[in-house]
Amino acid sequence: MASYLVALDQGTTSSRAIVFTEKGEIVASHAVEFPQHYPKPGWVEHDPEDILDSQITALKEAVRLSGVDVGDIAAVGITNQRETTFLWDRNTGKCVGNAIVWQCRRTARIVEQLTENGYGDMIRRKTGLVPDAYFSGTKLKWLLDYYNLHEKAENGELCFGTVDSFLCWHLLTGRPHVTDATNAGRTMLFNLEQQDWDGDLLKMLGIPRACLPRIVDSAGTIGMLDPGILGRPIPVTGMAGDQHASLFGQACLKEGDVKNTYGTGCFMLMNTGSRPVRSENGLLTTMAWRIGGKPTFALEGSVFMGGATIQWLRDELKLIDRASESEGLALSIPGTGGVYLVPAFTGLGAPWWDMYSRGTLIGMTRGTGRAHIVRAALEAIAYQSADLMEAMIRDCGKAPERLQVDGGASANAFLMQFQADICGIPVVRPQIQETTALGAALLAGLGCGLYANPEEAASAWRKDLEFIPKMDEATRRMNMAGWHKAVSRSRDWAEH
Ligand code: ADP
Repeated sequence: MASYLVALDQGTTSSRAIVFTEKGEIVASHAVEFPQHYPKPGWVEHDPEDILDSQITALKEAVRLSGVDVGDIAAVGITNQRETTFLWDRNTGKCVGNAIVWQCRRTARIVEQLTENGYGDMIRRKTGLVPDAYFSGTKLKWLLDYYNLHEKAENGELCFGTVDSFLCWHLLTGRPHVTDATNAGRTMLFNLEQQDWDGDLLKMLGIPRACLPRIVDSAGTIGMLDPGILGRPIPVTGMAGDQHASLFGQACLKEGDVKNTYGTGCFMLMNTGSRPVRSENGLLTTMAWRIGGKPTFALEGSVFMGGATIQWLRDELKLIDRASESEGLALSIPGTGGVYLVPAFTGLGAPWWDMYSRGTLIGMTRGTGRAHIVRAALEAIAYQSADLMEAMIRDCGKAPERLQVDGGASANAFLMQFQADICGIPVVRPQIQETTALGAALLAGLGCGLYANPEEAASAWRKDLEFIPKMDEATRRMNMAGWHKAVSRSRDWAEH
């Protein structure tokens, strides 16, 4: 019986494909990078052809490298960079301009107008998001306005989609125009409670329903991969945005389960079960996934400067040559000697939301050296993540039993131990670090019936290392208090 699963992981800088066994072991993988386009300051675009070509190449190459017979692939799952917006012609498939990437700030003014016109509360209430240019809705409005396409969109001649939709339309037989609920949830057009596009939000942005994809579950039959690609049709049965797939790939199936991904930035998601928890602490309410028509929700928070803080030590301060060197330096001293680094280089996100905060290095004495600063930078990643976790606990009233971790900087054992110490719960690192791709593969395995239920799918998750908290409560509190004092000194610094 066909039992291999293939994940397509379409990210911001590369398209990847990974072949997994049904036990969640990696057989082969391949990544293809593609160019970023910055046509103006603050603007970021992708060429849609690059996305398609790189993804198809990655898929073919990963399957070739795996040596797996195409007939033994049970299903394909798709996961993707979120919010990036495509608009294409329903007849020809040709895109209207380049894709507008999630990082692109070109619609900041549209968002300001929405809040000035009093739409902020409605957006928060219906979508669980904070009004921001990050999400797809204003990007789609921009494309329709700029290219004067409202009438064509009204007539159903255009398709809007995020990366998942775009890939399905172009790679699947019969060109299904679909998106999964987790991706839909990042458009600022999706009503979380009703699990559908929202008429008031569409009216607010002047977006015709006729250009929107059909919303499907994160696991279940979406269609068949065009046989022209791998030589055979293969069912596509799983789809989710990257952070949601990673939550699934980390086996965070129970209410209160939480994962943190330590990449350039950090993304923390907590499963809140069948209820969408409204945040009082600046977090986003988002989908975890939707399976069998049943939505599971999550709280989400992000740290802007995660691993990027370590890149800053390396590239700007030249205190280290390689990111991994930070671990040995941090461990070469017993503590920072009261030094804190608040890496608020672009302001602070949740729970502070202060865009006027700026980077602050404080508490130095004559004895402060390189190791103290490097250690303070690593600790800052953990402190910021601890602030997110505290916000989640305040919002849902429940403390998690452990924190599941992944991403590049989770390789740093000092950082992981300090995270466990400062959060006061075990930090658990899985064997498979590719949790996003694994999540997409497991969702596909669930969707094609290889697994009977999510629990069976998640049994593919296996622990590598567990970091047990060792810090006493008084020290933990003292450290956190010092961090918050440093944060307060960093705030309201840049001129308004
Ligand atoms: P992304 O997917 O955002 O590109 P990755 O998951 O590949 O990120 O992680 C890369 C980030 O992790 C970089 O910012 C890098 O500085 C940081 N990083 C990698 N290894 C280490 C390490 N051993 N210690 C601390 N930070 C690290």
